[in-house]
Amino acid sequence: MLETSPPDIFDCQTCGACCAYSADWPRFSLESDEEIARIPDKFIAADLSGMKFEGGRCAALTGEVGKHVGCAVYADRPLVCRTCMPGDEECRMARAEFGFSTEALPDPDRFL
Ligand code: SF4
Ligand code: SF4
Repeated sequence: MLETSPPDIFDCQTCGACCAYSADWPRFSLESDEEIARIPDKFIAADLSGMKFEGGRCAALTGEVGKHVGCAVYADRPLVCRTCMPGDEECRMARAEFGFSTEALPDPDRFL
């Protein structure tokens, strides 16, 4: 998820689908112990593999998917959350799962 303020490119805060797609998505990868330590324990999975996923969504996702959402750990979110960009393959998969339009999404390369 990408928070943009103001939402000059695409406002992920009206979506959140990628944060509520699969428990396998918000996994830790190359994060250092120090980076993971900045995320409150209540948001981390019991097996420490990534973010806790409960009720069909990342525990750090706030708000209502498809209306208005936020990430409670945005500044410290996992790498995978930083690399998922509006318009990329994962974004399109997640939005399609929720029945959200994938037509007006930006070219993800513009974020590189
Ligand atoms: S699914 Fe795409 S548009 Fe929705 S929050 Fe994730 S990156 Fe943003
Ligand atoms: S940590 Fe934040 S950006 Fe990553 S899946 Fe959870 S709510 Fe979404």
